Amino acid sequence: MRRDVFTPEHEMFRAQFRRFVAREIEPKVAQWNREHTTDRETWRRMGEEGYLGPCMPEEYGGGGGDFLYDAIVMEELAWQRAHGLMAAVHTSICMPYLVSYGSAEQKARWLPPAIRGDVLLGICMTEPGTGSDLANVQTRAIRDGDHYVLNGAKTFISLGQLGDLFIVVAKTDPAANPPHAGISLVLVAADTPGFVRGRKLEKLGLHAQDTSELSFQDCRVPVTNLLGREGQGFKMLMEKLQQERICIAVTAIASCRRALADTLDYVKQRHAFGQPIAAFQNTQFKLAELATQVEIGQAFVDRLLAAHVRGEDVVLEASMAKWWTTDLQRRLTGECLQLHGGYGFMLEYPISMDYADAAVQSIYAGTNEIMKVIIARRLGLG
Ligand SMILES: Cc1cc2nc3c(=O)[nH]c(=O)nc-3n(C[C@H](O)[C@H](O)[C@H](O)COP(=O)(O)OP(=O)(O)OC[C@H]3O[C@@H](n4cnc5c(N)ncnc54)[C@H](O)[C@@H]3O)c2cc1C
Repeated sequence: MRRDVFTPEHEMFRAQFRRFVAREIEPKVAQWNREHTTDRETWRRMGEEGYLGPCMPEEYGGGGGDFLYDAIVMEELAWQRAHGLMAAVHTSICMPYLVSYGSAEQKARWLPPAIRGDVLLGICMTEPGTGSDLANVQTRAIRDGDHYVLNGAKTFISLGQLGDLFIVVAKTDPAANPPHAGISLVLVAADTPGFVRGRKLEKLGLHAQDTSELSFQDCRVPVTNLLGREGQGFKMLMEKLQQERICIAVTAIASCRRALADTLDYVKQRHAFGQPIAAFQNTQFKLAELATQVEIGQAFVDRLLAAHVRGEDVVLEASMAKWWTTDLQRRLTGECLQLHGGYGFMLEYPISMDYADAAVQSIYAGTNEIMKVIIARRLGLG
């Protein structure tokens, strides 16, 4: 079935971006995976060509389009397994905080260089002691005259080494009751004294993606770096996490498509007992089931994308899509690896990396268990 969520303009953008990915990204993916990082030059090229902010306001240098343009970028990068680039963290997850809650001065200062790819953005929620329980963050931003003084540690931060500006979740009122009422979002530039980059973490998958520890040691930032209002941080996070979850669902289905396509090719070429393994009924049934589930998942994600672009409340459906598509991705990559036999376990076969890369999808952006907590609440349970 033709996907009807995209217009001809979207499809032209996709064709253009696909050519860019083939020319400038795909040749670098293996090297990025080996070196455990992406490179600034590629981010700048993405910015130059208008791929970091196709849906950002035109007055700041963005494309002025809708979120579907971002979705196209995510799908094409996922298809090429360029997960390390994770443009969505910068473009679709961090930039919207600046657009929605930034002051005129913050937007004018940070959005144009971010859209150009000169300033890379990250978001620091997770700490060594707390991830899912976000209201329990211990990082503090205590007001001292015209400054906030930040102290605390963050971990698992995407773009932790390459990033230039971070949205930091911190307590401006550590005594607030309930605790989430004491949370604020503070912008911290990486060149601020007291901002310390820690270890780049070794991971099971997503090798090219830079995931790091960061800490704040008497790190002073001007009060004008507060995003939105004091004590409103948790509310802003809850609003913006919806789009983050949609991003994960979009990439999950796109990654499933790639793993499935490669496996369909493989089973036709590999022979056992005098016939292609595609001829075994087990192979056929497994792939028939998985292809069906991918189409069903895609249909739901496309409906969700359309509703999100219309501005509907999609808290329930974003949580459903996030857990279901990433659960499918984990199962699908496992089944596809199995169909590759021993070669599936070899790193030279991309399915092995697909399997490893899938594992994190059910963990970040809110674990799948937290998604079910949200769904249950929306169903009036608990
Ligand atoms: C590659 C990678 C990139 C990341 N990038 C970022 C980033 O850029 N910025 C950032 O801030 N964070 C980032 N994270 C962190 C990620 O968002 C957290 O790991 C995630 O939110 C889970 O938190 P946790 O690891 O502390 O797990 P925990 O909260 O300790 O959870 C452990 C287990 O307990 C379960 N659990 C917890 N609470 C409940 C509950 N109420 N009911 C049922 N089960 C529950 C969880 O589902 C999970 O299975 C990244 C993580 C990874 C791995």
